[in-house]
Amino acid sequence: MKIETKCIHEGYKAENGEPMAMPIYQSTTYKYDSTEHVGDLFDLAVPGHIYSRISNPTVGFVEEKIAALEGGVGALCTSSGQSASLIAIMNILEAGDSFICASTIYGGTINLFAVTLKKFGIECIFVDADASEDEIQKSFKDNTKAVFGETLANPSLEVLDIEKFARIAHKNEVPLIIDNTFATPILCRPIEFGADIVIHSTTKYMDGQAVQVGGVIVDSGKFDWTNGKFPEFTEPDESYHGLVYTEAFKEAAYITKARVQLIRDLGAYPSAQDAFLTNIGLETLAVRMERHCRNAEKIAEFLESSDLVESVNYPWLESHPQKELQEKYLPKGSSGVISFVIKGGKENAAKFMDSLELAINAVHVACSRTLVLHPATATHRQLNDEQLKAAGISPGLVRLSVGIENVDDIIEDLKRGLKAI
Ligand SMILES: *Cc1c(COP(=O)(O)O)cnc(C)c1O
Repeated sequence: MKIETKCIHEGYKAENGEPMAMPIYQSTTYKYDSTEHVGDLFDLAVPGHIYSRISNPTVGFVEEKIAALEGGVGALCTSSGQSASLIAIMNILEAGDSFICASTIYGGTINLFAVTLKKFGIECIFVDADASEDEIQKSFKDNTKAVFGETLANPSLEVLDIEKFARIAHKNEVPLIIDNTFATPILCRPIEFGADIVIHSTTKYMDGQAVQVGGVIVDSGKFDWTNGKFPEFTEPDESYHGLVYTEAFKEAAYITKARVQLIRDLGAYPSAQDAFLTNIGLETLAVRMERHCRNAEKIAEFLESSDLVESVNYPWLESHPQKELQEKYLPKGSSGVISFVIKGGKENAAKFMDSLELAINAVHVACSRTLVLHPATATHRQLNDEQLKAAGISPGLVRLSVGIENVDDIIEDLKRGLKAI
Protein backbone atom coordinates (compact mmCIF):
# COMPACT_ATOMS: atom_id res chain seq x y z
CA MET A 1 0.00 0.00 0.00
CA LYS A 2 1.08 3.59 -0.68
CA ILE A 3 1.19 5.90 2.34
CA GLU A 4 -2.15 7.62 1.55
CA THR A 5 -3.83 4.18 1.63
CA LYS A 6 -1.99 3.15 4.80
CA CYS A 7 -3.43 6.22 6.58
CA ILE A 8 -6.87 4.68 6.10
CA HIS A 9 -6.34 0.92 6.05
CA GLU A 10 -3.47 0.17 8.48
CA GLY A 11 -4.22 -0.60 12.14
CA TYR A 12 -7.78 -1.78 12.80
CA LYS A 13 -9.07 -4.24 10.21
CA ALA A 14 -12.70 -5.37 10.51
CA GLU A 15 -13.44 -9.09 10.15
CA ASN A 16 -16.68 -10.47 8.64
CA GLY A 17 -19.67 -8.78 10.28
CA GLU A 18 -17.61 -6.58 12.60
CA PRO A 19 -17.93 -2.77 12.89
CA MET A 20 -16.21 -1.06 9.97
CA ALA A 21 -15.05 1.94 12.03
CA MET A 22 -12.48 1.32 14.77
CA PRO A 23 -14.32 0.59 18.04
CA ILE A 24 -13.47 2.35 21.31
CA TYR A 25 -12.59 -0.37 23.84
CA GLN A 26 -13.55 1.62 26.91
CA SER A 27 -12.30 -0.93 29.46
CA THR A 28 -9.49 -0.75 32.00
CA THR A 29 -9.53 -4.50 32.48
CA TYR A 30 -9.49 -7.82 30.59
CA LYS A 31 -11.07 -11.21 31.41
CA TYR A 32 -9.18 -14.54 31.41
CA ASP A 33 -10.13 -18.24 31.42
CA SER A 34 -7.24 -19.58 33.49
CA THR A 35 -4.62 -18.66 36.07
CA GLU A 36 -2.05 -20.23 33.79
CA HIS A 37 -2.84 -17.72 31.03
CA VAL A 38 -2.61 -14.81 33.50
CA GLY A 39 0.76 -16.16 34.69
CA ASP A 40 2.02 -16.32 31.09
CA LEU A 41 0.87 -12.73 30.49
CA PHE A 42 2.77 -11.49 33.55
CA ASP A 43 5.89 -13.37 32.42
CA LEU A 44 5.50 -11.69 28.99
CA ALA A 45 5.52 -15.23 27.57
CA VAL A 46 2.34 -14.64 25.51
CA PRO A 47 1.02 -11.42 23.93
CA GLY A 48 -2.17 -9.90 25.34
CA HIS A 49 -3.63 -7.10 27.39
CA ILE A 50 -3.23 -6.94 31.17
CA TYR A 51 -4.38 -3.46 32.15
CA SER A 52 -5.10 -0.26 30.17
CA ARG A 53 -2.20 1.60 31.79
CA ILE A 54 0.11 -0.68 29.73
CA SER A 55 -1.90 -1.47 26.58
CA ASN A 56 -5.43 -1.28 25.19
CA PRO A 57 -6.86 -2.66 21.90
CA THR A 58 -8.00 0.76 20.57
CA VAL A 59 -4.69 2.44 21.37
CA GLY A 60 -2.96 -0.66 19.94
CA PHE A 61 -4.61 -0.20 16.52
CA VAL A 62 -3.34 3.39 16.38
CA GLU A 63 0.15 2.20 17.37
CA GLU A 64 0.07 -0.33 14.49
CA LYS A 65 -1.02 2.36 12.04
CA ILE A 66 1.67 4.86 13.04
CA ALA A 67 4.37 2.13 13.02
CA ALA A 68 3.30 1.28 9.45
CA LEU A 69 3.34 4.95 8.38
CA GLU A 70 6.88 5.48 9.69
CA GLY A 71 8.15 2.06 8.58
CA GLY A 72 8.95 0.81 12.10
CA VAL A 73 8.61 -2.61 13.78
CA GLY A 74 6.42 -1.23 16.57
CA ALA A 75 5.09 1.89 18.23
CA LEU A 76 3.99 3.05 21.68
CA CYS A 77 1.43 5.81 22.18
CA THR A 78 1.94 8.17 25.10
CA SER A 79 -0.26 10.78 26.79
CA SER A 80 1.64 13.73 25.21
CA GLY A 81 4.54 14.60 22.95
CA GLN A 82 6.47 15.55 26.08
CA SER A 83 6.06 12.07 27.59
CA ALA A 84 7.15 10.54 24.25
CA SER A 85 10.43 12.53 24.42
CA LEU A 86 10.89 11.68 28.11
CA ILE A 87 10.30 7.94 27.68
CA ALA A 88 12.33 7.72 24.45
CA ILE A 89 15.36 9.04 26.38
CA MET A 90 14.74 7.29 29.72
CA ASN A 91 14.47 3.94 27.94
CA ILE A 92 18.16 4.27 27.00
CA LEU A 93 19.82 6.53 29.58
CA GLU A 94 20.14 6.49 33.36
CA ALA A 95 21.68 8.85 35.95
CA GLY A 96 25.28 9.54 34.99
CA ASP A 97 24.68 9.30 31.23
CA SER A 98 24.58 12.07 28.63
CA PHE A 99 23.13 12.61 25.16
CA ILE A 100 23.73 14.98 22.26
CA CYS A 101 20.91 17.23 21.02
CA ALA A 102 20.59 19.69 18.14
CA SER A 103 20.05 23.12 19.74
CA THR A 104 17.21 24.08 17.37
CA ILE A 105 14.37 22.12 18.97
CA TYR A 106 10.96 22.80 20.50
CA GLY A 107 11.13 25.02 23.62
CA GLY A 108 9.19 22.53 25.75
CA THR A 109 11.71 19.82 24.88
CA ILE A 110 14.59 22.16 25.82
CA ASN A 111 13.02 22.65 29.27
CA LEU A 112 12.57 18.90 29.68
CA PHE A 113 16.10 18.03 28.52
CA ALA A 114 18.10 20.88 30.05
CA VAL A 115 16.26 21.41 33.34
CA THR A 116 14.15 18.41 34.35
CA LEU A 117 16.36 15.57 33.06
CA LYS A 118 19.31 17.26 34.76
CA LYS A 119 17.56 16.68 38.10
CA PHE A 120 17.52 12.96 37.23
CA GLY A 121 21.28 13.04 36.63
CA ILE A 122 21.01 12.96 32.82
CA GLU A 123 23.05 15.57 30.93
CA CYS A 124 21.91 17.03 27.60
CA ILE A 125 24.75 18.39 25.46
CA PHE A 126 23.42 20.90 22.89
CA VAL A 127 25.22 21.19 19.55
CA ASP A 128 24.84 23.50 16.55
CA ALA A 129 23.03 21.40 13.93
CA ASP A 130 25.05 23.11 11.15
CA ALA A 131 28.42 22.24 12.72
CA SER A 132 30.72 19.81 10.89
CA GLU A 133 30.85 16.13 11.82
CA ASP A 134 34.28 16.64 13.41
CA GLU A 135 32.98 19.53 15.47
CA ILE A 136 29.96 17.55 16.73
CA GLN A 137 32.20 14.55 17.44
CA LYS A 138 34.09 16.68 19.99
CA SER A 139 30.92 16.92 22.12
CA PHE A 140 30.73 13.13 22.63
CA LYS A 141 31.80 11.73 25.99
CA ASP A 142 32.32 8.13 27.17
CA ASN A 143 28.88 8.25 28.82
CA THR A 144 27.03 9.60 25.71
CA LYS A 145 24.24 7.16 24.82
CA ALA A 146 22.02 8.85 22.21
CA VAL A 147 21.63 11.70 19.70
CA PHE A 148 18.41 13.75 19.31
CA GLY A 149 17.08 16.25 16.74
CA GLU A 150 13.92 17.51 14.96
CA THR A 151 13.32 16.94 11.23
CA LEU A 152 11.79 20.40 10.86
CA ALA A 153 12.41 22.42 13.99
CA ASN A 154 9.61 24.14 15.91
CA PRO A 155 9.64 27.17 15.63
CA SER A 156 12.90 27.99 13.73
CA LEU A 157 11.88 25.68 10.81
CA GLU A 158 15.49 24.54 10.39
CA VAL A 159 15.75 21.34 8.37
CA LEU A 160 17.97 18.74 10.05
CA ASP A 161 20.56 16.87 7.98
CA ILE A 162 19.30 13.51 9.28
CA GLU A 163 21.88 11.43 7.38
CA LYS A 164 24.72 13.45 8.88
CA PHE A 165 23.35 12.99 12.39
CA ALA A 166 22.77 9.25 11.77
CA ARG A 167 26.39 8.84 10.61
CA ILE A 168 27.73 10.59 13.72
CA ALA A 169 25.46 8.60 16.06
CA HIS A 170 26.29 5.24 14.47
CA LYS A 171 30.04 5.94 14.38
CA ASN A 172 29.72 6.28 18.18
CA GLU A 173 27.48 3.17 18.40
CA VAL A 174 24.50 5.08 19.82
CA PRO A 175 20.96 5.49 18.41
CA LEU A 176 19.56 8.56 16.64
CA ILE A 177 16.16 9.75 17.90
CA ILE A 178 14.21 12.09 15.60
CA ASP A 179 11.19 14.23 16.55
CA ASN A 180 9.20 14.15 13.28
CA THR A 181 6.18 16.16 14.52
CA PHE A 182 6.16 18.99 11.93
CA ALA A 183 7.10 16.87 8.91
CA THR A 184 4.82 13.90 9.70
CA PRO A 185 5.52 10.57 7.89
CA ILE A 186 3.73 12.04 4.85
CA LEU A 187 6.53 14.56 4.18
CA CYS A 188 9.52 12.68 5.64
CA ARG A 189 10.21 9.19 7.03
CA PRO A 190 13.40 9.60 9.10
CA ILE A 191 13.98 5.82 9.37
CA GLU A 192 14.71 5.80 5.61
CA PHE A 193 17.58 8.25 6.31
CA GLY A 194 19.06 6.26 9.21
CA ALA A 195 17.05 7.31 12.29
CA ASP A 196 16.65 4.51 14.84
CA ILE A 197 13.74 5.90 16.83
CA VAL A 198 11.10 8.42 15.73
CA ILE A 199 8.81 10.35 18.05
CA HIS A 200 5.84 12.66 17.52
CA SER A 201 3.57 15.01 19.32
CA THR A 202 0.32 13.61 17.82
CA THR A 203 -1.30 16.79 19.18
CA LYS A 204 -0.20 18.61 16.01
CA TYR A 205 -0.80 17.51 12.39
CA MET A 206 -1.62 13.85 13.19
CA ASP A 207 -4.65 15.00 15.18
CA GLY A 208 -5.15 18.09 13.03
CA GLN A 209 -8.37 19.30 14.70
CA ALA A 210 -6.88 20.42 18.05
CA VAL A 211 -8.96 17.94 20.07
CA GLN A 212 -6.45 15.74 21.92
CA VAL A 213 -2.96 15.93 23.43
CA GLY A 214 -0.86 12.86 22.66
CA GLY A 215 2.48 11.43 21.60
CA VAL A 216 4.02 8.36 20.05
CA ILE A 217 7.39 6.56 19.90
CA VAL A 218 8.24 4.41 16.85
CA ASP A 219 11.05 1.82 16.86
CA SER A 220 12.85 1.14 13.55
CA GLY A 221 14.02 -2.23 14.95
CA LYS A 222 17.40 -1.60 13.32
CA PHE A 223 19.62 -0.53 16.21
CA ASP A 224 21.96 -3.16 17.72
CA TRP A 225 21.43 -2.92 21.49
CA THR A 226 23.88 -5.80 22.10
CA ASN A 227 27.00 -3.72 21.28
CA GLY A 228 28.01 -3.59 24.95
CA LYS A 229 26.87 -0.02 25.68
CA PHE A 230 23.32 -0.86 26.76
CA PRO A 231 23.31 -3.44 29.58
CA GLU A 232 19.65 -2.69 30.42
CA PHE A 233 18.73 -4.42 27.16
CA THR A 234 21.04 -7.42 27.48
CA GLU A 235 21.05 -8.16 31.21
CA PRO A 236 18.15 -9.75 33.16
CA ASP A 237 15.28 -7.45 34.25
CA GLU A 238 14.49 -8.28 37.88
CA SER A 239 10.96 -6.92 37.53
CA TYR A 240 10.21 -9.72 35.01
CA HIS A 241 11.90 -12.78 36.57
CA GLY A 242 15.20 -12.13 34.84
CA LEU A 243 13.85 -11.62 31.31
CA VAL A 244 16.44 -10.30 28.78
CA TYR A 245 14.83 -7.87 26.27
CA THR A 246 17.12 -8.46 23.29
CA GLU A 247 16.70 -12.25 23.64
CA ALA A 248 12.93 -12.29 24.24
CA PHE A 249 11.86 -9.53 21.81
CA LYS A 250 14.72 -9.41 19.26
CA GLU A 251 14.32 -6.34 16.98
CA ALA A 252 11.35 -5.07 19.06
CA ALA A 253 13.43 -4.96 22.28
CA TYR A 254 13.42 -1.15 22.56
CA ILE A 255 9.71 -0.54 22.09
CA THR A 256 8.70 -3.53 24.28
CA LYS A 257 10.95 -2.39 27.12
CA ALA A 258 9.55 1.17 26.88
CA ARG A 259 6.04 -0.23 27.36
CA VAL A 260 6.46 -2.99 29.92
CA GLN A 261 8.95 -1.07 32.09
CA LEU A 262 8.41 2.67 31.69
CA ILE A 263 4.77 2.99 30.67
CA ARG A 264 3.96 0.41 33.36
CA ASP A 265 5.83 2.46 35.98
CA LEU A 266 5.18 6.05 34.85
CA GLY A 267 1.63 5.54 33.59
CA ALA A 268 1.71 8.08 30.74
CA TYR A 269 -0.59 6.02 28.47
CA PRO A 270 -3.40 7.64 26.47
CA SER A 271 -7.09 6.79 26.86
CA ALA A 272 -8.98 4.78 24.22
CA GLN A 273 -11.10 7.89 23.52
CA ASP A 274 -8.03 9.97 22.69
CA ALA A 275 -6.62 7.20 20.49
CA PHE A 276 -9.95 7.11 18.63
CA LEU A 277 -9.69 10.87 17.94
CA THR A 278 -6.07 10.51 16.81
CA ASN A 279 -7.14 7.79 14.39
CA ILE A 280 -9.76 10.04 12.81
CA GLY A 281 -7.02 12.62 12.24
CA LEU A 282 -4.64 10.02 10.81
CA GLU A 283 -7.19 8.90 8.20
CA THR A 284 -7.03 12.32 6.51
CA LEU A 285 -3.38 13.13 7.27
CA ALA A 286 -2.05 12.67 3.72
CA VAL A 287 -4.77 14.83 2.13
CA ARG A 288 -4.40 17.54 4.76
CA MET A 289 -0.60 17.71 4.55
CA GLU A 290 -0.78 18.18 0.80
CA ARG A 291 -3.20 21.10 1.22
CA HIS A 292 -1.19 22.61 4.12
CA CYS A 293 1.92 22.61 1.91
CA ARG A 294 0.27 24.02 -1.24
CA ASN A 295 -1.47 26.78 0.77
CA ALA A 296 1.71 27.68 2.66
CA GLU A 297 3.75 27.85 -0.56
CA LYS A 298 1.35 30.39 -2.07
CA ILE A 299 1.26 32.39 1.18
CA ALA A 300 5.06 32.38 1.57
CA GLU A 301 5.35 33.81 -1.96
CA PHE A 302 2.65 36.40 -1.22
CA LEU A 303 4.42 37.52 1.98
CA GLU A 304 7.79 37.67 0.23
CA SER A 305 6.29 40.04 -2.36
CA SER A 306 4.97 42.48 0.28
CA ASP A 307 6.83 45.76 0.97
CA LEU A 308 5.69 45.60 4.60
CA VAL A 309 7.43 42.28 5.25
CA GLU A 310 11.14 42.27 6.07
CA SER A 311 11.82 38.55 5.68
CA VAL A 312 10.04 35.21 5.28
CA ASN A 313 11.31 31.94 6.73
CA TYR A 314 9.91 28.90 4.89
CA PRO A 315 12.32 26.15 3.74
CA TRP A 316 10.45 25.57 0.44
CA LEU A 317 11.26 29.13 -0.79
CA GLU A 318 14.08 29.44 -3.35
CA SER A 319 15.56 32.17 -1.12
CA HIS A 320 15.86 29.85 1.89
CA PRO A 321 19.46 28.97 2.85
CA GLN A 322 18.46 25.33 3.42
CA LYS A 323 16.65 24.85 0.09
CA GLU A 324 18.95 21.91 -0.73
CA LEU A 325 18.18 20.07 2.53
CA GLN A 326 14.46 20.78 2.03
CA GLU A 327 14.54 19.16 -1.43
CA LYS A 328 16.33 16.12 -0.03
CA TYR A 329 14.34 15.52 3.15
CA LEU A 330 11.00 17.22 2.42
CA PRO A 331 10.50 16.88 -1.35
CA LYS A 332 6.69 16.89 -1.02
CA GLY A 333 6.68 20.23 0.83
CA SER A 334 7.77 21.78 4.12
CA SER A 335 4.49 21.76 6.10
CA GLY A 336 2.12 24.65 6.83
CA VAL A 337 4.26 26.56 9.29
CA ILE A 338 5.86 29.84 8.19
CA SER A 339 7.49 32.58 10.21
CA PHE A 340 7.98 36.12 8.93
CA VAL A 341 9.12 39.48 10.21
CA ILE A 342 6.92 42.53 9.80
CA LYS A 343 8.71 45.86 9.31
CA GLY A 344 8.25 48.27 12.22
CA GLY A 345 8.66 45.79 15.07
CA LYS A 346 6.30 44.96 17.89
CA GLU A 347 3.84 47.77 17.26
CA ASN A 348 3.18 46.93 13.62
CA ALA A 349 3.08 43.20 14.33
CA ALA A 350 0.40 43.82 16.96
CA LYS A 351 -1.61 46.00 14.54
CA PHE A 352 -1.39 43.25 11.93
CA MET A 353 -2.43 40.52 14.37
CA ASP A 354 -5.36 42.49 15.80
CA SER A 355 -6.82 43.17 12.34
CA LEU A 356 -7.04 39.53 11.28
CA GLU A 357 -10.53 38.08 11.14
CA LEU A 358 -10.03 34.55 9.82
CA ALA A 359 -6.69 33.57 11.32
CA ILE A 360 -6.99 32.70 15.01
CA ASN A 361 -4.59 34.07 17.61
CA ALA A 362 -3.66 30.87 19.47
CA VAL A 363 -0.74 29.19 21.23
CA HIS A 364 -0.87 26.17 18.95
CA VAL A 365 0.38 25.12 15.52
CA ALA A 366 -0.28 22.50 12.89
CA CYS A 367 -4.05 22.19 12.74
CA SER A 368 -6.73 22.59 10.07
CA ARG A 369 -7.47 26.22 11.06
CA THR A 370 -5.04 29.02 10.22
CA LEU A 371 -3.38 30.16 13.46
CA VAL A 372 -1.10 33.09 14.26
CA LEU A 373 1.10 33.86 17.21
CA HIS A 374 3.22 36.92 17.98
CA PRO A 375 6.02 35.59 20.22
CA ALA A 376 7.14 39.07 21.39
CA THR A 377 3.77 39.78 23.04
CA ALA A 378 2.83 36.16 23.92
CA THR A 379 5.30 33.35 24.66
CA HIS A 380 8.27 35.74 25.06
CA ARG A 381 6.45 38.83 26.41
CA GLN A 382 8.62 39.16 29.54
CA LEU A 383 11.65 39.99 27.35
CA ASN A 384 12.58 43.53 26.26
CA ASP A 385 13.74 44.26 22.68
CA GLU A 386 17.40 43.63 23.56
CA GLN A 387 16.61 40.29 25.18
CA LEU A 388 14.36 39.32 22.28
CA LYS A 389 17.26 39.88 19.89
CA ALA A 390 19.52 37.69 22.03
CA ALA A 391 16.88 34.92 21.94
CA GLY A 392 16.81 35.15 18.14
CA ILE A 393 13.28 36.56 18.12
CA SER A 394 12.75 39.73 16.16
CA PRO A 395 10.08 42.00 17.75
CA GLY A 396 8.17 41.91 14.45
CA LEU A 397 8.27 38.11 14.12
CA VAL A 398 4.93 36.41 13.46
CA ARG A 399 4.48 32.64 13.46
CA LEU A 400 1.82 31.60 10.99
CA SER A 401 0.42 28.07 10.92
CA VAL A 402 -1.36 27.88 7.58
CA GLY A 403 -4.59 25.87 7.68
CA ILE A 404 -6.52 24.01 5.00
CA GLU A 405 -9.08 26.74 4.25
CA ASN A 406 -9.29 28.14 0.70
CA VAL A 407 -5.95 29.90 0.24
CA ASP A 408 -7.60 32.99 -1.30
CA ASP A 409 -9.54 33.57 1.93
CA ILE A 410 -6.34 33.32 3.98
CA ILE A 411 -4.49 35.75 1.69
CA GLU A 412 -7.48 38.13 1.85
CA ASP A 413 -7.18 38.06 5.65
CA LEU A 414 -3.41 38.65 5.59
CA LYS A 415 -3.96 41.60 3.24
CA ARG A 416 -6.46 43.01 5.77
CA GLY A 417 -3.78 42.74 8.48
CA LEU A 418 -1.08 44.36 6.36
CA LYS A 419 -3.46 47.15 5.34
CA ALA A 420 -3.97 48.04 9.02
CA ILE A 421 -0.25 48.91 9.17
C1 LIG B 1 4.26 20.35 20.57
C2 LIG B 1 5.54 19.66 20.37
C3 LIG B 1 6.04 18.76 21.32
C4 LIG B 1 5.35 18.50 22.65
O1 LIG B 1 4.16 17.85 22.42
P1 LIG B 1 2.87 17.92 23.41
O2 LIG B 1 1.93 16.99 22.74
O3 LIG B 1 2.43 19.34 23.46
O4 LIG B 1 3.34 17.43 24.74
C5 LIG B 1 7.23 18.12 21.04
N1 LIG B 1 7.89 18.35 19.88
C6 LIG B 1 7.45 19.22 18.97
C7 LIG B 1 8.22 19.43 17.71
C8 LIG B 1 6.25 19.90 19.16
O5 LIG B 1 5.82 20.77 18.23
